[in-house]
Amino acid sequence: KPAQHANMFAEGWLKKVYEEKPVPVRTRFPPEPNGFLHIGHAKAITVNFGFAEYHGGVCFLRFDDTNPEKEDEIFFTSIIDMVKWLGFKPYQITYSSDNFDRLYELAEELIKRDKAYVCHCSQEETNNQRGGPDNRGKRYGCAHRDRPIEESLSEFRAMRDGKYEPREAFLRMKQKLTDPSEGNPQMWDLPAYRVVKKSHPRTGDKWRIYPTYDFTHCLCDAFEEISHSLCTTEFYLSRTSYDWLCEALDFKIPGSESKGPMQREYGRLNVAGTILSKRRIQMLVEGSLKHNILPAVRGWDDPRLYTLVGIRRRGVPPEALKTFISELGVTDALTNIEVTRFEQTVRRHLEQTAPRLSLILDPIPVTIEDLPEDYSTELRIPFHPKKPDGDARTVTLSRKIYIDRSDFLEKDDPNFFRLAPNKTVGLLNVPFLIRCTGFTKSDSGDVESIQAVKVEGGEKPKAYIHWVDATSCTPATARIYNALFLSDEPNTLDWKEGGWVKSLNPNSEVVYENAVVEKAGLEELRKMEKGEMIRFQGLRTGYFCVDEKDSEAKGKVMLNQIVSLKEDTSK
Ligand code: ATP
Ligand code: MG
Ligand code: MG
Repeated sequence: KPAQHANMFAEGWLKKVYEEKPVPVRTRFPPEPNGFLHIGHAKAITVNFGFAEYHGGVCFLRFDDTNPEKEDEIFFTSIIDMVKWLGFKPYQITYSSDNFDRLYELAEELIKRDKAYVCHCSQEETNNQRGGPDNRGKRYGCAHRDRPIEESLSEFRAMRDGKYEPREAFLRMKQKLTDPSEGNPQMWDLPAYRVVKKSHPRTGDKWRIYPTYDFTHCLCDAFEEISHSLCTTEFYLSRTSYDWLCEALDFKIPGSESKGPMQREYGRLNVAGTILSKRRIQMLVEGSLKHNILPAVRGWDDPRLYTLVGIRRRGVPPEALKTFISELGVTDALTNIEVTRFEQTVRRHLEQTAPRLSLILDPIPVTIEDLPEDYSTELRIPFHPKKPDGDARTVTLSRKIYIDRSDFLEKDDPNFFRLAPNKTVGLLNVPFLIRCTGFTKSDSGDVESIQAVKVEGGEKPKAYIHWVDATSCTPATARIYNALFLSDEPNTLDWKEGGWVKSLNPNSEVVYENAVVEKAGLEELRKMEKGEMIRFQGLRTGYFCVDEKDSEAKGKVMLNQIVSLKEDTSK
């Protein structure tokens, strides 16, 4: 049994669920292939795959592809990719649509058992049957409900054969619509099949009718012999219709969990301050012609988004994401968590694992003038300060180095301990200190270069700053990410008329075009990572990853900040 993240399965809600039905575990993760997955789905993946793994069972990846209108090939591949990225391996990849024949047969069987009927009522009429707009009126069945079984059967076949247009006919389950004591709307004769005249990515033009979620999901669970069907709490009321259908077709025994799948519901994960809704992310990705709004991000995998492809591109290690989820634990309550909490977990993970490199975001050259012109020395510096005997990189030091603009002050200040005229400062990992002897400025008034001399012995400096050797560095573009919105609650913005655009944070991406990073160190890391994503802590700067896709496109090292070094408490 995997020890990692085990707590979420060994205790609490998931322990209870297992104890309710301690049988060989078979679970499924059942996404609709109609969008990219987001951070909330990482919880569903971890719960389903992790639960099966923990109990030595299996987990299916099942595409719930019953709505041909919204499906696209790219979503199938991306979802498979994300499950793999999170470190899970599906026992089988299945498709609800593979069961269309069998589901159709069962629908006929249901009709024959007098538990389904073909209905031609309008949406409005159906709503009235369900007690009107507020569901408080009297409920009643329509004439179709009592039509002969043979008639429903032939009408259902007519639906299948394309006789009806969308909304002209439905197959409805004969549940408890007319039972005045049945307060659960999921039992008010839900549709089982509808007419959709669209071709399907997998079954082509074979079908003119498609089964609904309520008809499909529980039956596919039964076909795959799912033991624990774990879903989110918005399906709580659906548990009754789930069991009803399984029982009606003999997949379950009424009032018992001894046979067939058992549905249980856990709370969704919501990360506050982020946009997770597909439709809203789509607006950010595409902008809006109607409202004259340009795209706010570069794509579904933009590092500022909380889609899983975005989180991956930002450089978050999948292990850190899983740790975040397992530490939150699973209950039946909604988990609403601040994005800073997520960042804390990622930071903690990287603090332990990320190798260190020196990265200067906004470089100023410093010449150590008393070193000879051709001075060059090589230092071996471990990648991780807490693992002095671990992997190390070679760092060259020559007469000219870069330091960060923020580490220099033109006019000294007693509260400033880094470099300033006549001030001495330490350079990380260098056996001597430097003292500033002068600096030059450009016409625009920016400090352009700094002159310094070497200081040996003497007092311990008040501060050490990071530096990169100018003769052996790699130019890079570093991008720092901040919240996409100024508002703490972007979900409450005006998403209908495009008002959200006014709340976009102009500094959601801060770009440092002229950054420099250790060259040999980066190459060393590239060798160590063997094609995996390169992540490192830029000393005193933040955690970064190399964005390979952009690096290739731009012909330059492109870095994404994963998280800052410390939490920004200024907000
Ligand atoms: P969304 O509308 O947010 O994209 P969805 O429920 O329509 O989500 P599905 O493709 O049906 O997306 O999701 C697959 C599984 O992931 C479902 O079992 C669903 O309950 C679960 N899931 C979706 N969002 C969350 C979330 N925020 N937290 C936990 N589980 C989630
Ligand atoms: Mg769904
Ligand atoms: Mg949804």
